[in-house]
Amino acid sequence: MSALPPQVLIVGAGPTGLAAALFLARRGVRARVVDAAPGPTTTSKALAVNPRTLELLAETGVADRILSEGQHIGVIRIGTNGRVNTTVRPRWDRVAPGRPMTILPQARTEALLAEALAEHGVRPEYDARLTGLIQTADTVTATLSPGETVTTALLLGADGAHSATRHALNLDFPGDASDLPWHLVDVEIEGAARDEARVDFQRAGPLITLPFAGGVFRIIGFGDDLLPRLPAGWTPGRVLWRSEFKVSHRMVPTMAVGRVALAGDAAHIHSPIGGRGMNLGIEDAFVFAVCAVDALNGDLSRIADYARVRHAVDAAWVKTSRGLTGFVAGQSPGVRLVKRIAPPIATSVPGLIEQALKRGLGLDHPTAVR
Ligand SMILES: Cc1cc2nc3c(=O)[nH]c(=O)nc-3n(C[C@H](O)[C@H](O)[C@H](O)COP(=O)(O)OP(=O)(O)OC[C@H]3O[C@@H](n4cnc5c(N)ncnc54)[C@H](O)[C@@H]3O)c2cc1C
Repeated sequence: MSALPPQVLIVGAGPTGLAAALFLARRGVRARVVDAAPGPTTTSKALAVNPRTLELLAETGVADRILSEGQHIGVIRIGTNGRVNTTVRPRWDRVAPGRPMTILPQARTEALLAEALAEHGVRPEYDARLTGLIQTADTVTATLSPGETVTTALLLGADGAHSATRHALNLDFPGDASDLPWHLVDVEIEGAARDEARVDFQRAGPLITLPFAGGVFRIIGFGDDLLPRLPAGWTPGRVLWRSEFKVSHRMVPTMAVGRVALAGDAAHIHSPIGGRGMNLGIEDAFVFAVCAVDALNGDLSRIADYARVRHAVDAAWVKTSRGLTGFVAGQSPGVRLVKRIAPPIATSVPGLIEQALKRGLGLDHPTAVR
């Protein structure tokens, strides 16, 4: 930690907070990152690193490491009840040259961000929980437990879905929550192509499979016994992680109040279908860093710019994610029919798959912040 007080205090050392600290450090800003947890994340959670994130992280060197460690998606197969009826081979050379969708466990992505940050002399401080904050026209003073106050020019709340920063700002988190439990398993698999993602709309519900490097696959679906529903010829082996989650869709009314901004899950949560959660947080972090530099140079209106630009993008995805998740989970006869006939039709329309990929991968909007 620098002897000088931080210019920006970042609350939360998840992917959003680490990325924000890194983007700020590269712009010469002194940031301090604090986290309530005793240490870094160890689980794989968010696994898809999308082309937009790779583009933003290119300047940090982290993108190259993600690309070399992770598994690139070469083919996506879509079908019903075990029968594949659509095969998509994304033309990354056209959609995002040199930046294919890449699968890497979240703990590794965070470790790579932290390593790059350490090169700037910044290390996340654990066991440090934000308990309150007050701001004036010129500063923000944060209270950390155990027993410390920090005064800073700007504060970024990247403290996740239950954000203490958001609570301190008295902001609502309106939206909806589903009671339907989704299950996930990370498991070694023999017999599957290593670069293949699948979506199989089965009678028991959707089954989504995504490949990590080294023959490990993430399986997501309904019901706690997903492995017997794998494609024919796929043999599951050692299970590395199992978890269960329920999906909520929520968006804060504003992403900044004065000198305090929110980013990542602190500001928006949505289903993992489409793999945007961590990616949206890293996009927020990039735009915040660009605007924070201007704010520190005297133009505080840039924090309002950050809030405006990112709220539009994030709220749009929360809405899309709600619709997409409802469709993927839907089991009515009409929805089942669409699931069977729509993918082959979509692949026969020139350019439609590329457009859909661009939208889903965050390439449908500029990162410019004016
Ligand atoms: C089981 C599971 C599977 C998922 N799968 C996917 C997926 O496939 N694709 C995808 O895109 N997303 C997925 N996600 C979501 C993804 O993990 C999140 O979107 C992502 O972690 C958000 O990053 P973040 O940095 O904004 O918040 P977080 O990762 O939640 O980090 C917030 C940090 O803030 C810290 N913190 C909290 N309160 C305080 C406080 N008061 N003071 C200081 N620190 C505090 C926490 O300890 C934490 O380290 C999944 C999540 C789960 C749980």
